[in-house]
Amino acid sequence: MNEQIFKTPIEYLKGVGPQRAEILKKEISIFTYGDLLHYYPFRYIDRTQFYKVKDANPNLPYIQILVRLKSFETIGEKGTRRLVAEAVDDTGEIELVWFQGVNWIQKTLKLNQVYIIFGKVSYFNGKPQMAHPEIEFFKKENQNKGNLSLQPVYSSTEKLKQFSLDSKGIQRIMANLIDIVFNDIEEELPEYLIKKYKLYKRNIALLNIHFPKDTQVLKITQNTIKFEELFFIQFRMLRSKLLRSQKFKGNIFESVGEKFTFFYENLLPFQLTNAQKRVIKEIRLDTQRGAQMNRLVQGDVGSGKTVVALMTMLLAIDNGFQTCLMAPTEILATQHYHSLHALLKDDFVSIKLLTGSTKKKERKLIAESLESGKLSILIGTHALIEDPVIFKNLGLAVIDEQHRFGVEQRAKLWRKNNVPPHILVMTATPIPRTLAMTLYGDLDVSVIDELPAGRKPIKTIHMFENHRLRMFGLMKQEIAKGRQVYVVYPLIQESSKLDLKNLMDGVDTMSREFPLPNYRISIVHGQLKPADKEFEMQRFVKGETQIMVATTVIEVGVNVPNASVMIIENSERFGLSQLHQLRGRVGRGAEQSYCILMSEHKLSREGRIRLDTMVQTNDGFEIAEIDLQLRGPGNIEGKQQSGLMDLKLADLAQDQKILQEARKSVIEIFETDPDLNKPENKILKSFVTKAENGITLNKIS
Ligand code: ADP
Ligand code: MG
Repeated sequence: MNEQIFKTPIEYLKGVGPQRAEILKKEISIFTYGDLLHYYPFRYIDRTQFYKVKDANPNLPYIQILVRLKSFETIGEKGTRRLVAEAVDDTGEIELVWFQGVNWIQKTLKLNQVYIIFGKVSYFNGKPQMAHPEIEFFKKENQNKGNLSLQPVYSSTEKLKQFSLDSKGIQRIMANLIDIVFNDIEEELPEYLIKKYKLYKRNIALLNIHFPKDTQVLKITQNTIKFEELFFIQFRMLRSKLLRSQKFKGNIFESVGEKFTFFYENLLPFQLTNAQKRVIKEIRLDTQRGAQMNRLVQGDVGSGKTVVALMTMLLAIDNGFQTCLMAPTEILATQHYHSLHALLKDDFVSIKLLTGSTKKKERKLIAESLESGKLSILIGTHALIEDPVIFKNLGLAVIDEQHRFGVEQRAKLWRKNNVPPHILVMTATPIPRTLAMTLYGDLDVSVIDELPAGRKPIKTIHMFENHRLRMFGLMKQEIAKGRQVYVVYPLIQESSKLDLKNLMDGVDTMSREFPLPNYRISIVHGQLKPADKEFEMQRFVKGETQIMVATTVIEVGVNVPNASVMIIENSERFGLSQLHQLRGRVGRGAEQSYCILMSEHKLSREGRIRLDTMVQTNDGFEIAEIDLQLRGPGNIEGKQQSGLMDLKLADLAQDQKILQEARKSVIEIFETDPDLNKPENKILKSFVTKAENGITLNKIS
């Protein structure tokens, strides 16, 4: 075995040389033998079998069909001139069409001749069609020739093609590479896992991913590589979790004390849902073990995460610790401050707000009371981590709306204390389980899967511009009942000026339709000073205004239970999770609430799916799954740290089963053999050792 061989500069490979090496580096970041080996085909051409016309459909790769030519003719004028042929087999008819080389191809075609046609099938007017198929005479002796394997197709670029590195060219150098390195490809997975999940050995898999014999082999090969990718992400995650629990002691919240009990018995204005109770119990157990808690509480919008956080904080305070709660925006932090303050009643526990706009004098007071230990709850934004605030004994940090806080920021918090505080992360952005396992795989997860009783599901309606009057009607009807309305405009990142104009035009329209003195409108957008934002927010919170026109600053967490209508303008411009978040701002009280999605008539396919999804379901998890299918995990925040970048083949939307198997395997390994001392785990141990000795193995380090 010679691991160094994978570091060999690509120019030394037969068929490459210095000039092509330059292009490979520039165009597709292939520097070494190893890089090329992991440059996988993006699809395969299936010439291993003949398909029947009736089975031909657009979901198949490039396929071949044996057909008889029934008719052909050129139709259309210059520009749209094309050659159209009808071909049949014993199961049906397929149309062939050529737009180029019409004259030449027409000359070669013979009626009633049997041909092999090869290409991608699409549907045209409900009928199967192949555009620009490759076509060749069928000869009996050809039947088994040239059909031996799937052909890999690599993505290439114009530049690469100029240097003969089109897909075929890459295939050629890949063949050279595999010849040289095959024997040096080391196994990375323990033998028993390969057996258990019926995978290939790694060298076989890497050979087959480039040159698969047939679709059966390809399937197993892809499973193998996906499993390996996902296994090592989980391995890294869960190992760091294990190390953390070995390295860090955790504060022990011994007992439920006076404040917790008093709050529960006298102040809590409602019955906790069973889900809330269960999660509080999970947290209780977690904080008694003597290890640091790292827990993610996932709960759909409006499921009541705040009170869970508050009760956890009271638990900490009862045990002599200080706590903090961090939110992604100042609005949200301020709102938390007000609502916790209200829940706790005066002086029950000391609670303060620290944000970017906190005055110097107040800051000083806060700093003092933190250091002396007098202050029990500090609420703030990110500023809390950046700020040189020093707690006397921070026992718990709650992070609301985690998707805006990265792993690194979390780590910063720990450094604020000798014994790291317990961490409670709350997110209302439901993420599919697969993503949760990958992004937050090092956290324990609690789920609040129940909404408080008496909530009516929000009615979501999609309206086009010509229904605007109907929308105004609904607004008036709700306002007449004493309810309040949000109207949200999208943010167009590139131009905050345009955003503002958009919003201000909206305000104009609204003020004409809803004039003073009967109606009052709050306006909140990103260009406002925090104090002005807060002022406008408060007018709405207090019910002094009935309409809140805003950009997405109100997206997360804002809680005004009396608001019953959410109008989203240009809703086609929003992502699914954003739409769901926004909708979550209403439906927080007992009344029927509405979400109106205004959109233009012209919608992209995805835009249409997003809006339809919103109309059809209120279930955040279902929405998150669809969102993942639509967007792919490409745009997910936090993917840098999570190892998602290393995924070449695995797809979190498609490969949930493999991910679950991989994670389960890793969990079992760490449960039964945390130090990897068993002989069957030797292979993993050797990786860990290498990683610890600073040998960069991107899999583990
Ligand atoms: P989220 O999970 O989205 O952060 P909040 O914590 O803001 O939700 O709670 C939404 C609303 O539901 C708040 O007004 C809160 O007081 C209320 N609430 C929370 N738990 C319950 C409950 N068990 N019964 C009734 N209302 C509740
Ligand atoms: Mg919340």
